[in-house]
Amino acid sequence: MNKQTIRDVDLRRKRVLMRVDFNVPLKDGAVADDTRIRAALPTIQHLLSQSASVILCSHFGRPKHGPEPEFSLQSVLPALSGLLPGRMVHFAPDCVGSAATNQVKALAAGEVLLLENTRFHAGEEKNDAGFAAQLAAHAQLYVNDAFGSAHRAHASTVGVAKLLPAVAGLLMEAELKYLGQAVLTPQHPYIAILGGAKISDKIGVIQNLLQKADKLLIGGGMANTFLRAQGLALGASLVEESALDMARSLLHTHGERILRPIDAVLGDRFGADAKVQTIAVSSGVPDGWRILDIGPETVARFGAALRGCKLVVWNGPMGVFELAPFAAGTTNVARLVADCGATSIVGGGDSVAAIHKAGLAARITHISTGGGASLEFLEGRTLPGVEALNDR
Ligand code: ADP
Ligand code: MG
Repeated sequence: MNKQTIRDVDLRRKRVLMRVDFNVPLKDGAVADDTRIRAALPTIQHLLSQSASVILCSHFGRPKHGPEPEFSLQSVLPALSGLLPGRMVHFAPDCVGSAATNQVKALAAGEVLLLENTRFHAGEEKNDAGFAAQLAAHAQLYVNDAFGSAHRAHASTVGVAKLLPAVAGLLMEAELKYLGQAVLTPQHPYIAILGGAKISDKIGVIQNLLQKADKLLIGGGMANTFLRAQGLALGASLVEESALDMARSLLHTHGERILRPIDAVLGDRFGADAKVQTIAVSSGVPDGWRILDIGPETVARFGAALRGCKLVVWNGPMGVFELAPFAAGTTNVARLVADCGATSIVGGGDSVAAIHKAGLAARITHISTGGGASLEFLEGRTLPGVEALNDR
C-alpha cells in the first residue's frame, strides 16, 4: 500500500495529532488489558524521539448522550503514563474548545497530551467538517495508528486527514503491509483458513479470498453450513438455513478448493461438562448431538494442505475453543500455522485470543489488531481511514 508513513515526513518539533485506538476493556475503573495501548507505543516513542509534541485522540466505548463519566479516557491515563516513564503525559477534559486549545499551546516538545473521548461530540461519528476542523487546528501533522477504526469514516479518522498532511503510524503501516500482501500481492501457494461461528458474517471474506488464495480450509460453525449443503445430517449443530443456497453454489463452483472437515468432535450439549464423541462426518451427527470442534483427521488434512505454502491467513476459530473439550482443533491448527514456515497472518478477535492462549503469538508473522477492519480489508474493500492518508 503506497501510503506515506511517519518515516517519510519531518517530525522535528512538530505538533502532531495522533489517532490511536485506546478503546480498551476496563475492570473496576482501571485498564484490564493494555494490549492496544502498547501497540501504539512504537509510534508514540518515535514521535517523541524527534522532539514532537504528541496529541493523542481516540474514541472510547459508545457514549450516547455526550460526556458520560464511564466513557472518559481519563481512566486510561494512569496506564498510558506508566508505559511512558520519564515523559509528561497530560489530559485534556474535552478534545476541542478553548481549554484544550490552551493545553495544546502549552505543550512542550517531547510531551504528550491525551484528549478526552472524541465520541463525546456528535460531530465525531457524523464526520462533521466543523468538528474535524477544531481537531485539526491542534496540530501541524496528522498520524493515524488506529487501524481498528479505519473502516469508519469519522471526523478523527477521515475528516482531519483531509485538513492536515496525513500519514500512517508504525502499527497502521504493519497492518497495511501484511494485510495488503494478503489481498493484493500474495505469494503462492497461499492458503486461507476460515472459521468462527457464522458463515453469514464472512461471506464477503470467503468470496474475496477464493479469488486470491489457492485453497480455503473451513472449520468452526461456518463449516456446518457447507456440510449441510452437501446433504449430511448434522443433528443439533449450528446451521444457517439462509446461507445454504450460497454454500451449495460455492461448493458447485469451487468445491475442490474448499476443504471441509472430514471428522468432528461432538457434544451432547453446549457446555464444558458435555458428553463428548468424535465421528466421521460422512456417518452423520446423531440426533441431539452437535458439532463443536474439528476432529484429528481434519487437523491432519489441513496440515497436509499447509505443507510447503508461502502465505497463510487465518480468521476464526475451528471450534468452541472457549470450552476445554472443544479447544484441540483450534490449538492444533494454531500450531500448524506457527510451524508451517510460511508468512502467517492472523486476524479476528477470537482467533487472536486463541493464538495468545496457545502461547504462539511470537511465532506468527503478523497478528492484526483490527477485528471488523481486518475483515473488511480481507473482503477487498477500501477502508476510508486508509484511503484518506497521503499517497507516497
Ligand atoms: P473471530 O473473532 O476470530 O473473527 P468469530 O467471532 O467469527 O471469530 O467466531 C468465534 C466464535 O465462534 C467463538 O465464540 C466460537 O465459540 C464460535 N464457534 C466456533 N466453532 C463453533 C461451532 N462448531 N459451533 C458453534 N460456535 C462455534
Ligand atoms: Mg469474534
